[in-house]
Parts: sequence; structure tokens; C-alpha cells
Amino acid sequence: MTNPYKTREGGATVTVFAPYDCGNHCPFCINKGDYEDTSWFDQDKIEESIRIMDEITPKCDFVFTGGEPLANIPMLQRMIDLIPNTHRLFINTTLPTFEGQGLDELIAFTEHNKDKLTCINVSRHMQHYVTETPDSYLAELACPVRVNCVLYKKYPADQLPGYLERWLPYGIPVQFRFDYTATTPENLYDHENDPIFTDVSKIADYTGLDGCRMRCGFHFNYKGLELTYHKTLPYSTIVETDPEDGNTYDILYDIVVRQNGEIRSDWDDTKLDVDAYRKVKFEPNDMRIYEGDLVHPVK
Ligand code: SF4
Repeated sequence: MTNPYKTREGGATVTVFAPYDCGNHCPFCINKGDYEDTSWFDQDKIEESIRIMDEITPKCDFVFTGGEPLANIPMLQRMIDLIPNTHRLFINTTLPTFEGQGLDELIAFTEHNKDKLTCINVSRHMQHYVTETPDSYLAELACPVRVNCVLYKKYPADQLPGYLERWLPYGIPVQFRFDYTATTPENLYDHENDPIFTDVSKIADYTGLDGCRMRCGFHFNYKGLELTYHKTLPYSTIVETDPEDGNTYDILYDIVVRQNGEIRSDWDDTKLDVDAYRKVKFEPNDMRIYEGDLVHPVK
């Protein structure tokens, strides 16, 4: 660590990489390499790290991602059981089924955890990178659900209306996502030169913009369906000097628990100095509504 840490009220989001693979090969995935060799994975150490992060920031958000968190529900349950209800809890998944895990098991999992699960974010891209279970499965889950769709490189813009019509019968909110590996501080809020913003604006009503230093969300209404276009930077630390105390801080947005339980302060291999984080300086949440009459900030 080079600078003391700062983060928003409640603490940085803790993203836990589940120690199970997804079986897919999305071209924009930067995590896939981690899952080629699973011998370094350590569920016990992941659980220890979850306990530590709960102790330091008992109200932070937790996100389970992968790989595929729902590839092994019993082991995921062990991790979820360590997280008290003071936290918001999200799961990023493709909603996989396989022998021994069908829709009934997925519903039972969401029923069991419905008081804890803030939202399950299901990847459904326009280009079919992932093995997909039926759309109707998403509507059967006993917790809030959102669909995430990465619009990667030359996405088929003419198919956007058809894609949104697909989710209308279920009323499931959709989040289009810019390829985060291509996001920079310069283009984060730029929408005038952004083809996705232009394409979505043609088919849906723009309702407003919210965001922070790290990410933003352009909100739309498509025939009553909640639609967001989300952009985020590819790193999770911003270095900034505080005008009040003159100190330079590493401002942390996401803390990452890797598959071996190691706690990192960014998406790369930067280790979190856990003792320094225990003394983190908190600042007010910098999420702002910039345009429109939005009632909830983007996640
Ligand atoms: S499903 Fe997720 S983890 Fe798997 S390859 Fe695609 S982006 Fe990567």
C-alpha cells in the first residue's frame, strides 16, 4: 500500500470469486484464466476472509461472482450463512442447471435465502456466449432478479428491441453494460459519442443519469420496463488528495476475495493491507443523481 485508505460510508463492496467454474467462454471475460487450474482454490480461506470483511465493515455490500456461484449451491450456502442481514447481497450468475440441479433446486435456494438476497443478476447476452436456461426460470425465483447484457464490440444493434421484448412479459429489469475493459475516465460519462447510448435512446425513453467517480448508469424506460445502461472503470481504486487534510488516499470502491481467499484491494493482484483497512477513513457516498427524477441509485 502506498497511501492510507478511504472508502464510502458502509465500506467498499466486497466481491467474492466463487471457487467453481462457469463452463462458458465469454470473449470479454478476464476471470476465465483463474479457473483453468483449480488446485489453488481454498473455500475455508474464502470463508475466513468473508468473516474478516464482515467484522471490519458490517454494512458493506457483498457480491458473489465467478466462475459460477450457483455451480455448487451447498458450498455457496456455507458462504452466505456467514453474512448477516446487515449487508446487501448480490449474486452474478448464468443460472445454470445440470444433472441434480434443476429449476426446483434454484427456486428452493432463493426461497431459503429470500430475506438475504438483494438481487440475482443473470447474464443473458445478445450474442450467445453462455449456456442459457429458459427465460421463464428467472421469473420463478423467489427474490429480485435483473438481467445483465454486455454489449460487446459490434453488437447487433438492430436486435435491441427484440431483446427487450423478450423480458417484457416477465417485467424483469435489464441492464446493458459497456465493455468495462474499454472504459476510461474520459469516456465514462460521455454519451454524445457513445453508440450504445445513441442506439438505446432511439428505442427507449431516457429518464436520467446517476453515478460516482467509478461508475454510472443511464436510465431508460422501455414500454414500462426498467432499463439501465451501465458503465464502470476497469479498476477499483482512485488516488485522490483530500483538500481538507491534504493527505493523498487510495479510495477503494471494490475489495476482492480471490478463489484462494486472498483479499485484494483491486481487480488485479494488489493485496489489501487488512490492518490499514481497519483504520479506513470514511467519506460520504459519492453516488449522485445528475439528471432526471430517479429514486434509487444505480448499483
Ligand atoms: S459466464 Fe461469466 S465467468 Fe463465465 S466466461 Fe462468461 S463472463 Fe466469464
